[in-house]
Amino acid sequence: MKSLQYQATLRDALHFEGVGVHTGAPSSVDIVPASPGSGITFVLSEGTRVQASAEFVTETARATVLGRDGATVSTVEHLMAALFAMGVDNATVTVSGPEIPVMDGSAKAFAEKIAQSGVLSQNEIRNRLVITSPHFFREDDRVLVVLPASRLRVRFLADFAPPIGTQFFDAEITPEIFLNEIAGARTFGYLHEVEALRKRGLAQGGTLENAVVFGPDGPLKPLRWPDEVVRHKVLDLLGDLSLIGVYPQCEVIAIKSGHRLHCIATRELRKLIAPALPSVKVR
Ligand SMILES: [Zn+2]
Repeated sequence: MKSLQYQATLRDALHFEGVGVHTGAPSSVDIVPASPGSGITFVLSEGTRVQASAEFVTETARATVLGRDGATVSTVEHLMAALFAMGVDNATVTVSGPEIPVMDGSAKAFAEKIAQSGVLSQNEIRNRLVITSPHFFREDDRVLVVLPASRLRVRFLADFAPPIGTQFFDAEITPEIFLNEIAGARTFGYLHEVEALRKRGLAQGGTLENAVVFGPDGPLKPLRWPDEVVRHKVLDLLGDLSLIGVYPQCEVIAIKSGHRLHCIATRELRKLIAPALPSVKVR
């Protein structure tokens, strides 16, 4: 299948604007095609360029933050998931503002625009991470297992306090499945958390329009799927896996994992393809 074997970039430049979910600050991104082998590069304020790869992750507390030389961009995971899962290997993303715009809290707008404009095959073989033995990552009750496979497949078990509960999602990751089953799943949180986050100066841009908020009895607004939460966890995982920097040809089994464990795993997995790269410290 050609689309799996060759690198690709965007057919057209794309523009998105909105606010950052944590800061509430206006932000926009301009994404343009890039040459084969260049990967995804973020261009931040004053021209700092940061490669979208695991060694540049500076923070994983509420979102995945990339940074270099003091410049950072927050909440890259939904845009990265869309570029990665829709098959875009190479692109340059110029960011204005401290965060990627939250849009509707999901990767829907990103994935739909990429699908509409289309991707361009670049006649250079797609680099892959092919493993021959299982890799295990664990932190407390969070587990990530990465197994050899012929395609990328994700099985995610999420387990949250009521009213969310336990949810499971299992799919081979293709552009079609991402676009139709994963991209639209929104960021979520609990009503009691939202107030606490705001007091810490976070979630300033969070509204009922860009996040699913769960009260004691259930979501305050209708869900897009009954298991929207675990689908969003898969979305976040794909965004973080993209920071390996090549196509991970593996089966990933995730139990209650989040950005922090994903970052530990992607850094280890990235060493398999780029052993000498130094990593920045994660806060
Ligand atoms: Zn997310």
